[in-house]
Amino acid sequence: MNFEKIIGNEKVKEILQKALKNNNILHSYIFMGISGIGKKLFAEEFAKGILCMSEDRACGNCKSCMEFESNNHPDFMEILQQEDAKNIKIEQIRFMQEKIVEKPIISNKKVYIIDDADTMTTEAQNCLLKTLEEPPEYAVIILIASNESKLLNTIKSRCTKISFEMLSDENLKSYIHENITKDITPNMISMCAGSIEKAKTILEKKSVYESLEEIVNKIDSKDLIEVLNNAEILYKSKDNIQELLDYINIILYNKKELKYINCIPIVEEVKRRLLQNSNYDMSIDGLLIRMWEEVNEEYNRG
Ligand SMILES: [Zn+2]
Repeated sequence: MNFEKIIGNEKVKEILQKALKNNNILHSYIFMGISGIGKKLFAEEFAKGILCMSEDRACGNCKSCMEFESNNHPDFMEILQQEDAKNIKIEQIRFMQEKIVEKPIISNKKVYIIDDADTMTTEAQNCLLKTLEEPPEYAVIILIASNESKLLNTIKSRCTKISFEMLSDENLKSYIHENITKDITPNMISMCAGSIEKAKTILEKKSVYESLEEIVNKIDSKDLIEVLNNAEILYKSKDNIQELLDYINIILYNKKELKYINCIPIVEEVKRRLLQNSNYDMSIDGLLIRMWEEVNEEYNRG
């Protein structure tokens, strides 16, 4: 079993490894936790271990492991959202049910992963329920979900829940450094809230986040006009301003200095006002001026 490649969630690793070692595999699991922390990688590695024909579990050498690695395993299936769809549909569950009654071909078990299971329509969930109630003895079903409240209680009560925790900033940083880029600031890491997926979206808009760091870093400039002129990115980011303001709060907080921490309530107030449709440009002006005053308080008083 090869969980070494996967970062974080040591407790989950232990539980799954133990289940494999003791051959104590249950019929249905829910892997629950925020997106982007590796639930699917865990599920796939677990599936590979369940299907492996060697006592090693995910030995990498047996027929099952080789078929699995070439995405060709007849006893394994992933149910995913179809392109452009926001749901897992009942037809997909019915298709799975047609397949699941056929005996395994290579391994002793069959494993089905339903990704984004919390996006199953209610009909799809009710349909799946029949299989969860009376699964074939060789079947293992793993639901992956981030929003527990979207799953019917009847589904939840029939699955064993495995809870995933968000990654620590340290874990996330070393993952990103090794797999994506070394060029990411500590503030960006904080903004990811432990999610690799979030890190990827942040890195796609990296220049925006860098501009925000520059705005905050220069807010102590004596020249208010310069501060306002440097903040172009805020004036043209109406669509995702709430997220950008959250990021400004992270930068302010990480500066660990009272005059910056004192700016956080100002940002929060502007966030609220914008949600109530206050004039956009005036709100941004107000934000910058008040932050500037707060940070340069001594100078202003003098
Ligand atoms: Zn194997």
